[in-house]
Amino acid sequence: MDDPRRRTPRTDAVLAAPTVAAAADRLGRDRVKAAVVEVLAECRAGSLAPEDVVDAVVARLPGSSTSMRPVVNATGVVVHTNLGRAPLSTAALEAVTLAAGPTDVELDLATGTRGRRGAGALAALSAACPDAGGVHVVNNGAAALALVACALGAGREVVIARGELVEIGDGFRIPDLVQSLGVRLVEVGTTNRVRLADYEAAIGPDTAFVLKVHPSNFTVEGFTSSVDVSALATLGVPVVADIGSGLLAPHPRLPDEPDAATTLRAGAALVTASGDKLLGGPQCGLLLGSAPLVESLRRHPFARALRVDKLTLAALEATLTGPTPPVAAALAARPEDLLARARRLAVAIGPGLATAVESEGRVGGGGAPGVPLPSAAVALPSSLATPLRLGDPSVVGHVKDGRLLLDLLTVPEEREADVVDAVRRAAAAAGTAEGAS
Ligand SMILES: *Cc1c(COP(=O)(O)O)cnc(C)c1O
Repeated sequence: MDDPRRRTPRTDAVLAAPTVAAAADRLGRDRVKAAVVEVLAECRAGSLAPEDVVDAVVARLPGSSTSMRPVVNATGVVVHTNLGRAPLSTAALEAVTLAAGPTDVELDLATGTRGRRGAGALAALSAACPDAGGVHVVNNGAAALALVACALGAGREVVIARGELVEIGDGFRIPDLVQSLGVRLVEVGTTNRVRLADYEAAIGPDTAFVLKVHPSNFTVEGFTSSVDVSALATLGVPVVADIGSGLLAPHPRLPDEPDAATTLRAGAALVTASGDKLLGGPQCGLLLGSAPLVESLRRHPFARALRVDKLTLAALEATLTGPTPPVAAALAARPEDLLARARRLAVAIGPGLATAVESEGRVGGGGAPGVPLPSAAVALPSSLATPLRLGDPSVVGHVKDGRLLLDLLTVPEEREADVVDAVRRAAAAAGTAEGAS
C-alpha cells in the first residue's frame, strides 16, 4: 500500500509544479527534466519521499545557466587574473545588460546609415586621455600589441631590450607573440642593463619601431639600468610602449607604474595597454597615440580579427564615464578603515574563530610588482580554506603562516554579510569548535 514506487509522481506532473516550471523557463527544459528524472529514480528506489520530490528537484538545480561560479575575492589581489581581473562597476554592469539587446553600436539613428562602431566608448577614451590624438580598442592587451606588430613590423625589425622579454602568463611570451607575426626581433643590452647607445647601434633602415615593454610582473634590483621613453624618442624611429596595466594618468599610490599620458608626453608614438587591469574595466586592449598611426591600425585587415563586441564597448564607456570602479576604490581604501571593517567582521563571525589582523594586498594582474598595499584581513583556521572556496558563493582567501586570511582590500562592503554567512556555514560543516584557532 505504502510502496514509494507506486506513489512516485509522473515526470510531467513534477515538471508542471509551479516552482519547477519557473526553473525550466529560467534554465531550459532539458536541464530541469534531467534533474526531475534523477530525483524520481531516487524516489522509486525509496530513498526520497514522494512529497519531497519537487523540493529536491529545485534544490538540485544550479542558480544560473552558466557553470561559472561567482566568487568573493578575499585574496587582497586587486586585479586577480584567475578571478577574471577587474570586477565591473555597477554602471558598467548596467551598460552590459542594456547592450545585450539590439543597440545602435554601429548605426547612426539620425540618418539610418552605418555609424562609427563604438563611437561613445572611443570618445570617452579620448576624453580620458587627451594626450592621445587617436584611440582604438581591441580584444585585449596582447591583441593591441599584435596589431601594432603585424601592421607596422611584419617583415621588418623591432628593437627591444633583453630585460623586457617578458612572459605574461600561462606560458605566453611577448617576444613569441611579436615574432609570430613576422617581426624580426633585435635584442639589445643584457638582462639587467641597457643603454641608449645599444639601441642606437641596433637601429637600421629595416627598423620598424623600438618596443618598450613594462616588466609588469617582476622587478630587477641591484646593478640595473634602462632607457626611458623620452630618450628612446630621440632615436628617429617610432617608440611603441606596452605599459600593460592601463593607467591613463599617474596614480599617487603607484609612483613607479607607467601611465599613458606621461608615456605619450615623453614621446611614444603609440601606447598599448589592457582595459581590465588598473583601468578597472572589461577585458579589452587599448591603443593610444598619434592620430594617423592609430587610424592606419584601425583600417588594417588584421584589426577586424581583433574587434571588440558591443558588450565590451558599453562596459568600457561606463567604466570611463561612470562612478569610481571597484579597482580604483580598492586602491583608494585607507588601511585604518579596512582594519575597522576586519574587526567588525571578526566579531560578527565569532571571536573564538576569527581575529582581525593587518595584512598586505597587491595590485596583481601584472601591475606594480612588489608594491605592497597596506590592508587588513580576517584570520581564520586554514582548514576553512577549502570549504570556503567550494561554498556558494565561493570565498577565496589566501593561506599565510598557517592561517587563512580573508583580505578586505578586495571585498566590497556589500558582500560582508555573505562572507560572514559563508564562514559560519563552513565552520559548522567542518565541525570547527568555537574557541579553535
Ligand atoms: C598584462 C600585460 C599584457 C597582456 O595583456 P592582456 O590584456 O592580458 O592580453 C601585455 N603586456 C604587459 C606589459 C602586460 O602587463
